[in-house]
Amino acid sequence: MTTPIEQTEETLVIVKPDGVARNLTGEILRRIEAKGYQLVDIRMLQADRELLAAHYAEHEGKPFYEPLVEFMQSGPVVAIRVTGNRVIEGFRSLAGTTDPTSAAPGTIRGDLGRDWGLPVQQNLVHGSDAPESAARELALWFA
Ligand code: UDP
Repeated sequence: MTTPIEQTEETLVIVKPDGVARNLTGEILRRIEAKGYQLVDIRMLQADRELLAAHYAEHEGKPFYEPLVEFMQSGPVVAIRVTGNRVIEGFRSLAGTTDPTSAAPGTIRGDLGRDWGLPVQQNLVHGSDAPESAARELALWFA
């Protein structure tokens, strides 16, 4: 058997404040590693408004934007640089759909998340959705 050549792609994963507060960081990292992806950089930080405004620029003006930016500042988060072939698609599959109530069991959001009052806000993780956004977001969080 030949060793597969990793056409390495990178993504940004964030364990959101709800995931950190519920002590799920280790479980989330475990699932990423168990899938076979590699953690190449990690930092815990308190995100400020400027970073979050840049990160969520595409959502500015939407009704959930302000509460989301507030929520993301409500406690520490963990930002992780993850690599592997097709890791962007693969992590989003591991994370599950945005709303944790309806996210499929077997996924991070489906197994570990629920509605705590604001229907889709507290969904434990962020994962970049395309190579361009991954590059942009990684430059912001790992400046
Ligand atoms: N979000 C929210 N209300 C909504 C939609 C999204 O609070 O109606 C939050 C939620 O935390 C989500 C984030 O905004 O993860 C970014 O939304 P996006 O549509 O990009 O979802 P994702 O890619 O994270 O699944």
